This record gives sequence, C-alpha cells and structure tokens, in this order.
Amino acid sequence: MAKTKGVKRTYSFGSGQAEGNKDMKELLGGKGAGLAEMSRIGIPVPPGFTITTEVCSEFYAAGKRLPRRIEQEMRAALSKVEALTGKGFGDAANPLLVSVRSGARVSMPGMMDTVLNLGLNDATVKGLAERSGNERFAWDSYRRFVAMFGDVVLGMKPEHKEDRDPFEELLEAKKKARRVALDSELPVEALRELVAEFKGAIRAKRKLELPADPFELLSMAVSSVFRSWENDRADAYRKLNGIPSDWGTAVTVQSMVFGNLGESSGTGVAFTRNAATGENEFYGEFLVNAQGEDVVAGTRTPQRIAEMAKHWPEMARQLEEVRTRLERHYRDMQDIEFTIERGRLYVLQTRNGKRTGLAAVRIAVEMADEKIISREEAVLRVEPESLNHVLRPIFDVAAKETAIRSGRLLAKGLPAGPGAACGRVVFFAEDAVAWKARGETVVLARHETSPEDIRGMDASAGFLTAFGGMTSHAALVARQMGKVAVVGCPALSFDYQARTMKVATARGPRLIHEGDWLSVDGLLGEIIEGRIATQSSEVVGVLIDGTVKPADAPMYRLFTRLLGWADGVRRLKVRANADQPDQARTAIAFGAQGIGLCRTEHMFFGEGKIGPMREMIVAENEAERRTALAKLLPLQREDFAGLFRAMGSRPVTIRTIDPPLHEFLPQDPAGQEELARATGRTLAHVQSRISDLVESNPMLGNRGCRLGISYPEITEMQARAIFEAACEVAAEGVKPQPEVMIPLVGHWKELANQAKLVHEVAARVFAERKRKVKYSVGTMIEVPRGALTAGEIARTAEFFSFGTNDLTQTTFGISRDDVGTVLNTYVQKEIYSVDPFVTIDRDGVGVLMKTAIAAGRATRPGMKIGICGEHGGDPNSVEFCDAIGLDYVSCSPYRLPIARLAAAQAVLKQRTPGRGKAKKAAKKKSARR
Ligand code: ADP
Ligand code: MG
Ligand code: MG
Repeated sequence: MAKTKGVKRTYSFGSGQAEGNKDMKELLGGKGAGLAEMSRIGIPVPPGFTITTEVCSEFYAAGKRLPRRIEQEMRAALSKVEALTGKGFGDAANPLLVSVRSGARVSMPGMMDTVLNLGLNDATVKGLAERSGNERFAWDSYRRFVAMFGDVVLGMKPEHKEDRDPFEELLEAKKKARRVALDSELPVEALRELVAEFKGAIRAKRKLELPADPFELLSMAVSSVFRSWENDRADAYRKLNGIPSDWGTAVTVQSMVFGNLGESSGTGVAFTRNAATGENEFYGEFLVNAQGEDVVAGTRTPQRIAEMAKHWPEMARQLEEVRTRLERHYRDMQDIEFTIERGRLYVLQTRNGKRTGLAAVRIAVEMADEKIISREEAVLRVEPESLNHVLRPIFDVAAKETAIRSGRLLAKGLPAGPGAACGRVVFFAEDAVAWKARGETVVLARHETSPEDIRGMDASAGFLTAFGGMTSHAALVARQMGKVAVVGCPALSFDYQARTMKVATARGPRLIHEGDWLSVDGLLGEIIEGRIATQSSEVVGVLIDGTVKPADAPMYRLFTRLLGWADGVRRLKVRANADQPDQARTAIAFGAQGIGLCRTEHMFFGEGKIGPMREMIVAENEAERRTALAKLLPLQREDFAGLFRAMGSRPVTIRTIDPPLHEFLPQDPAGQEELARATGRTLAHVQSRISDLVESNPMLGNRGCRLGISYPEITEMQARAIFEAACEVAAEGVKPQPEVMIPLVGHWKELANQAKLVHEVAARVFAERKRKVKYSVGTMIEVPRGALTAGEIARTAEFFSFGTNDLTQTTFGISRDDVGTVLNTYVQKEIYSVDPFVTIDRDGVGVLMKTAIAAGRATRPGMKIGICGEHGGDPNSVEFCDAIGLDYVSCSPYRLPIARLAAAQAVLKQRTPGRGKAKKAAKKKSARR
C-alpha cells in the first residue's frame, strides 16, 4: 500500500504507438495488452487507454472507491485520445464517445459487461447527429447508451432469466406502438422518446437522475467494471477455471468506432483458424450495420466471413491481411473482434483463440509444419487435459444412419463442440445440476445461454441453443469445457413454463418434453431424437479397436506425431494402472512403458474367483484357509501369466492384497445364505464372521500389509502365483519383470516381514521350476510414517511407489469416501485452492514425498521411485513428479497420452526462461492478500 505515489495507473495506446505491450497482461489485462501490442505493430486500433489491475486492488482496498489520484490521470489520458481523434469528451459540437471495457489477465468471456457510446447526453447527441450527418444513428447510439448504462452500471439488468429487461420491454412496446418489426425501422422521433422513457425507468427504479456530465458517467462506469470482478457470474467462472480471486481486472477506455453507420459499416468476430476442427481457414461471422455486442449476443443471425468477399471485397482483403499479420506476430491462432466504420477496418480485440482438443492438436502440429513455431512449442501448445477430446466417442455410424433414415433427425445447427452426447433433455441450468446429481445424463437446451448457466452447463453432457453463432457464450463454453454442443439452431423454440421445446423439422413441428432422450452430434451440428449408440474416437479406433486404418485417420496421425515429439522430450517414464491383459494391451497402445499398479484384489472379483476367496475369508483356521487358497492359486497364476504375456519385458508392479477382507463378503442376506451353502457352514456362522470383520474405520483398519502379516499364507499364495506365472511365461521366451509391491508400510519391519516371505517363495519356486526370473520387492509409500522413515525402509525396499490417494487421506486425516461434500465446501471457500485428491498438495503431501525420496536414495542410491495414485494422470501433479525426480508416473490407460504430454511439458517449461518467473510473480501476488 505504501508505494502508491509514483505508480503509473494508465497506459495509453493509439496511432501506431502504445505505452504497454503484449507482455503486460498482469497489469493491463489480456485485452489492454492486446490493444497496446496491436497499436505498436500498426494494426488499426481506435485510440484509448487502460487503467491497470493495480487500480482495481486499490479500489477494493479503499472500500470500493476509486483512488483520488486516478481522476487527474484519466483526464490526462483522455486528452491524448482527444488529440488523436480530434474530438472532445463532452464537446457538444464534436463529441468524443468512448467504450468502457473490462479485461482480466485471462479472458473471462461475457463475465464483465462493456458500456458503449459513453459521452452522449442531450447536448452531445446533437453534435454527433450533425457530425455524422445521421440523426437516426445518433439517437440510436444514445438510446443504446442509456440502456447499457442502466443495465450494467446501475444494475437494472434482471437477476433472473424469467424476468425481462426493463429497457427491452420499453423497446418492444415502442415497436408495437409504431407497428414495426425491427429496431432499425424505428424513426428518429421514436428513438428520442425511448431515451426519455429509459431515463424515466432509471428514475423510477433507481431514484436517480442520469448524470449529464460525461466524466461523472465515466467514473461510474469504471467503478462498475471494478465491482463486476466480484459479481456472482465472474466468481463462478473463476472457481470453475481456477482463476485466483485477487488478480483483479483492468479497465480499458477506448474511443468508439461505429459499425452501425449504414451499409458500409459492420462488426464481426473471427478466428484465424477453425476453432472446432483446427483447419487452416479464416472462420467467423459479421453483421452489416450493427454495433459491437450484436454479434456476440446472438440477437441477429450473422453472415459468415467466407461470404464477406462477395459484398465487400476490399474489406475482406484488409481483414485477410490482418489475419496473417496477427497470426504471424502472435505465432498462434487468434480470436479477433473487429468493426468497420464506413469502409475502414478497426480491430478491437485479439487474443489466443480458445479451441477444441481436436483443433489444438491440429493447429499445433500444422503450425510446426508451417515453421511458424518449433516442435517443442507445438508440444507446449496443447493443454494435456484437452487430449480427452481426441479420445472422445463419436456416434456409431450405422446406428446414426438408421436413425436419420427413420426420420429422427430433428434439426441442424452450428457444430460448436465436437463429439457425441446422448442424454435426457432439460431446459434449466438448475435442473441439469439436480438431474446429474441423481445420476442422469442430461443435455441442456436453451434459447441461449449466459454466464449464470455455467454450473448447469458443466453438469451436462452437451448443450443446444436456438440463438447465437460460433462465438456465442454457449460455443465458447463448450470449447473450453470440452462439451458437445450445437448452437444457433433456429428450428428450436421454447416454452419454459410448460417445459417443452418445439422443433420445426422438415416434416413439421415436433414437441419435445423435458426428460426426452436426445442425441447431439457436435461435429456435424445434428440434433437427433432418441438414443444412438456411440463408438470410439478415431484414435481409439486405430489404436485400441483396430477398426480404423491409420491411412483413413488424419486425426490419429496428427495425434501420434505430437505425442512422438513429446516422447522425444520427456524424462519421466509412463506406466499404467491395469489389472487385466486387455487393459494392459490398451495401455501399451497408449504408450505405457510398464504397469505401475496391478491391484490383485480386482482379480478376485473375476469369474470363479470370488467363491474360493470368500471361502478363505470365512475359514476358521490356517489349514482351512490354505485349502481355499490352493483353489485360488491357479486362477491368480493365470491372471498374472496373462499380464506378463501382454507386457512382455516391461516391468509389472503387482501389489499384494490391500483392501479389508469384509469388502469381499456379500452384504445381502441372499448372498450370505448362498455363501453358507457353498462352504457348508451355517448362516449364523457366516454372519458372525462378517460382523467380526466389520470395522469402524476400514481405511485405517486391518488392510494393506497388515493382512499379509496376520495371514502370511495369503502373501505366500500370491507370491507363488506371481513367480510360477513368471517362470511359465519365461519358458515361452518372454522376459517378464515382476515387481512385488507391499502396500501400506509404515514401519520397516512390516516390509522386512513380508519381503522375507516373498523372497523365500521365490527361491522355492525357482528351485522347483529350475528357472530364475529377475524380480524385485518394494513398497508403497502411502502413510506419513512410511515417508518419514523411508531411509530405514529402503534398506529392504528395492523400489518405492507413492500411493498418493492414501498418502493424501492420511496426511490430511481426511477419508475421501466420507467427506466429499466437505471437500467441495473447502474448495468453494478457498480453504483448499484445489482438491488435493485431484492435484498433489505440494506443500504438505509433496514435502513428505520429497523427504521419502531423499531418504530412500540416501540409503539406496539411484533407487527407482514412481507414483501410482490417481495423481499420476493429472498434468499439474505430473509436473511436480518430474521436478522432484521420480522415475515414472502411473495412471489409468486412457490418461496415458495426457501424462506423456504433461511429462514433456514439464521438461520444456523448465527450459523456457520466463515461464517459471511469471509463475513466481503470480504466487507472490496471491500471497499478498
Ligand atoms: P467482451 O469482453 O465481453 O468481449 P468487449 O470489451 O470486447 O467485451 O466489448 C464487446 C464488444 O463491444 C466488442 O466486441 C466490440 O464489438 C464492441 N466495442 C467495444 N469497444 C468498442 C469501441 N471502442 N468501438 C466500437 N465497438 C466497441
Ligand atoms: Mg470482446
Ligand atoms: Mg493404498
């Protein structure tokens, strides 16, 4: 707070110059930094200035008041704009109008509202009319301004979807009274009346006279942008996207250009490449004779950029030039907003475009091929998580054809989010959340979506809208969340009261009720009635199902090349958590270099195995237990042999039995009777055995190595199965690499006890089979004591694997099964910034990991250490695992591509100077609050 004096609070731009640049996003927000940069490189940008995010912090620190010093600075910055435009702010003869725009460091689409045409009042509107020679335009701008100012700054925008905007109501009434259909048909006189009526509405609702002084209006608007940083919508968006609440927003004040000055004016938005597929084509939409938000709001259906050349060849040429220059300059796909005023093009915003996972892969690989970026940059460009898109199912082609042939195609819209979604339709975001909570898969359909719907959108498999284009809110969110979406489908109309949706199909209207099944093809934009079977993605088709040939699979080829580049960079190895041969094969197809966790207990639920397992558990003495175990032995041996065959010479880590025994016993009376019959015991005996095993804290009960220590014959049987299988497979010419892993070790003697057993069995089996197989015995580090005494444990353990699920539970003292809702509350209240079961808690669990690694390797230099908790597939955690020197991460097979990419990025981020620095600065800033 002390150093507010000499601080620069505003940064001007315009006329080929700027005080800021593209690297100043933290201070100027993404939008402000982009405008400054464009101005610098000679892209036409209307002049203006940006008020920094630090002023936002000052604003909040001062109890939501603008700091006094900002006034002079704003006035000074405004006079520069006046000089550049030759207009005066509040000048009745030649008024300067400005927009007031919000802009956080990362773009938060639609989160904070923009005010356009500020500077108009009863006097300046006349000057504008004269100067533009267009009275209608002047009054249309004025009525838009009053409404926007009322909605955004004075908070008159309705809170609920069902309520109507007061200004829109007046406008509709006016159109009715004047018997016209379109806004643009209203005469000047009507617009004049509207301005008065709008002001009246403000007076009635807010008990306030709209100020005439433009500077007063500007200050109010700036404050309002700052305040909007903390509104509910912005807050919800930040939580969903992990944006810290203390970043704050910048405000840009910029001279207006007008897209609503007639037929040679217009406004639009465009992506320099296709944001859905990644194809290298200019992709976007524009509206003739329209102002700013008309395109984004989707209230008029725009034309495609591809058609612009027909109407305005010169404009299309200028725009194409801007496209190439911006893409080359930013070396990434750009999402731009532009306005054309009487034949002159202005760019109002540029940012790296949001894209689907499919598009991200394609753009990265193709830009590397075009030599715009290096291959390493291409690897850094793809958000690991977004590879999920590429692995997402599509509709079964035959099933879909049948559906369409039988007339189930309802309508077509714009393909905004690729993939196939099938679910029951709901019409309200709250319903989507509620239905999802009770286990339904839902598709959210609405006339249009807005930021307050995002929780519901998050809960939906896909969404549909009637209005808006590829840049509407629904489309943006779909791309970001990786949801299936079809937007801008005018055939849909809604009766929210009746909870129905009418679809104008080729065969006449069709009424869809809440809860009906719909299938949505987000790649083709099709909405189909009923359910359609889905099939796996192209990549999965090639790699896993073998149903698609690489030659027919362009996406697969891009995917493979990108991951090939990643593999060339990464240091961490990747393994899979897999228990069965088919899972192992999937894992190998996705690049697994071994199995990091085979949970043997999963095998006991397989065919024919649960019986003897239960028999073993209800046995009364060791002899009986051994009889039952003897039945399990050949079954386990076959499981392991299958796994070894599938994995070849890759290492396979097999964990000895881990969960508490009661988990294997039937909980229902019928199952218990059945068990009694099968084992020749009384029901009472079985039930008493079950109640003996009941624990109040099974997570901390008789499980893990404790089981193997109390019932050594179980470990013996498992070890025997492992080594017999290994010998069997070795005899076939495969070189298996079993790694026997003892779970839940907290004391070195626990491991010593179990390892001794395993080594004895190994020696016996090798003697019997007259064959030796290389193997190792290690342990999971998953309780704090294990981590703290890792040095002692490493005397016995030949390897460690972090079980970070349990390690997180035991470090936090939180049972994940019991406190799911608490965790949500904690994340909501920002007590935990992220869910520690999703991303490794570096400051707590991470410290234990580092301790264990240091101590383990001090005892046993070069010791192999990996991770097999679910964190192994979380990109942020993978980065951490790389940094602390693990040898491998292990995750579920379908997350392997994500882990491979994340592991490569971890290395590259370490190399790229600046990246680490930016992060540190961000951390510092958040520490301040
Ligand atoms: P958002 O963050 O919601 O995209 P913007 O600040 O980009 O909000 O404003 C929305 C739209 O308003 C822009 O796309 C642009 O069309 C219009 N707009 C903003 N400032 C100006 C301006 N100075 N002149 C003309 N149109 C503007
Ligand atoms: Mg914008
Ligand atoms: Mg565990």
